Amino acid sequence: MADSYFPERQSLLDFLGDLKRTHMCGALRLSDAGKKAVLMGWVNRRRDLGNIIFIDLRDRTGVTQVVCNRELNPAAHQKSEQLRNEYVIAVVGTVKKRDADTINKNIPTGEVELVVEELRILNESKQLPFLPGDSVLPNEEMRLKYRYIDLRRDAMQYNIEMRHRVSKAIRDYLSAQGFFEIETPIMTRSTPEGARDYLVPSRVQPGSFYALPQSPQMFKQILMISGFDKYFQIVRCFRDEDFRADRQAEFTQIDLEMTYPQTDTVWGVVEGFLTAAFKAAGHEIKTPFPRTSYDEAIRRYGNDKPDMRLPAMVDVREALTPEELEDVATKFRVRKEFPVQLIRIPRSGDISGTERRTMGTYGAYQHVQGPTFVQLMTDPKRFAKDYPAISEKILAFAKVEADDLWLLAAARGEGAGADQSLQHFCEKCGFLRLDLAQKYATRHKAFEKTGDPATDFRFLWVSDFPMFEWDNHEKRWNPAHHPFTTLHEEDMAKLEANIDSVHDPKSPLGEIRALAYDVVLNGTELGSGSIRIHRQDIQKKIFQALGMSDEEARARFGFFLEALEYGTPPHGGIALGLDRIVMILAGADSLREVIPFPKTARAVDLMVDTPTPVSEAQLKELGIIIRAPRQ
Ligand code: ASP
Repeated sequence: MADSYFPERQSLLDFLGDLKRTHMCGALRLSDAGKKAVLMGWVNRRRDLGNIIFIDLRDRTGVTQVVCNRELNPAAHQKSEQLRNEYVIAVVGTVKKRDADTINKNIPTGEVELVVEELRILNESKQLPFLPGDSVLPNEEMRLKYRYIDLRRDAMQYNIEMRHRVSKAIRDYLSAQGFFEIETPIMTRSTPEGARDYLVPSRVQPGSFYALPQSPQMFKQILMISGFDKYFQIVRCFRDEDFRADRQAEFTQIDLEMTYPQTDTVWGVVEGFLTAAFKAAGHEIKTPFPRTSYDEAIRRYGNDKPDMRLPAMVDVREALTPEELEDVATKFRVRKEFPVQLIRIPRSGDISGTERRTMGTYGAYQHVQGPTFVQLMTDPKRFAKDYPAISEKILAFAKVEADDLWLLAAARGEGAGADQSLQHFCEKCGFLRLDLAQKYATRHKAFEKTGDPATDFRFLWVSDFPMFEWDNHEKRWNPAHHPFTTLHEEDMAKLEANIDSVHDPKSPLGEIRALAYDVVLNGTELGSGSIRIHRQDIQKKIFQALGMSDEEARARFGFFLEALEYGTPPHGGIALGLDRIVMILAGADSLREVIPFPKTARAVDLMVDTPTPVSEAQLKELGIIIRAPRQ
């Protein structure tokens, strides 16, 4: 037939006409045998057996085998010879039970096929760079450039459906708890999360810029001032951070805020919506999640987002008498005022002498943390021989099993150039624990899924973070969370007494604890939040402690500070990364697998090809001159 739009071309294409789809491609079952059906979808595969042509017809719900039989329907058979991968077709036919020897047990529609009476070719497809059904994936760049094809793959359809189901479960849960989903602006001004902003130039006010929100932080607090009581939003946030493998320039948060909460009120809400989200993915998780303080997390795991799938470190000093401790400290020349940490990796004990001796020479322990004053005892057999009584005691105390790998880490007296704080010591030990856990993962298998949610998903609340952290670069104390986070009421006097010591590294500001918390899963931070400052006088003090003058504070957060003065109720909230949660639930290994249109680590969208230069005319209109990019 000649194409009516392109008469010079012999077109294969048919019109849809008034044809209506009766079933999805994953729907037909044996009980439908004998029925008429109209299916529409993509040609996943075509097998030409001469008199019979089989087509696997695919849509998002599955695949149905379609049969074109030359004897039964010569016209349809002839037409089907023209089909190629990813052509879009409609088929009208009758559902037929398959012969016993052709049943495909691997797919839900495998007991039936559709015998074609009429075939319409609705669209053709160019030769594709890769096929949705290919078992070997092309490289990621190719997948991202042709994202529309990549998204047709089963795995991506599954991930995006999972994302929908998880978001919906969260929305439903929070709505049922009385939270309103309220939108906040995308074109706004700099927010206090501390990363770089993406800026949008204003045309009508040349030289002025909007910032894309790093989070809706100030707006959600304002919504509490405005009386909405419970707010949430599944919201896009934008942070212009340096290239990090597992970060996205724009990402999605489950953001919430409520009035008059205690910390555990917020935690209860989060546990509730995570339970709903995990249930939507088929996992029953247990609440409440265990809780620990920041200090304890550092002491026991050397890390503020402990991976609870492996045992904590144990300070074995507690198992020893003062004399024994003295003895150990003298013999090993270590400091007894520091922990003597027993690091244990289950079921990994059988390692060579070389492996033992080189334990501390690889991974994050050696490389991330700079010079050290940590001393390692990595030869348990020798230790047991030389100090049988002590060895027995500490093994029992730390519950070490016969096939566990274990070592001791203690603090040496010297260590040129090393940060000799307890925090640094514990962090070093924590890195070693994680390095070993990675190295012997195939032995202890703690990172493998068992099917039991209690083992597979180890949640934890970490609270009482320090309010300020020392910035060695800028030589000053900065807010560890954001500057609207409140502190423990007991620590208020300490703030008052040290308000002018922002540049003193020894300032007790470092001891002040914030009412801030993180929710952690399997060693990854899922989200963080805090109880906020609701009083102007305290907010002022925090700015003062941060060395921010009144004018500076007004210039940055003026509208917000003013709002605080008009009857702000106590409030608090949290934000969790949706992308990461979906990634975990989909069993994916990158955020890009669960974001429909992600950016690369260099913040480039390869499909739409952005960022791009813009026209001179556009720049002129915005009053922008591009200088040569800074090197
Ligand atoms: N706005 C914070 C963040 O995005 C979370 C919060 O404090 O609620 O990290």
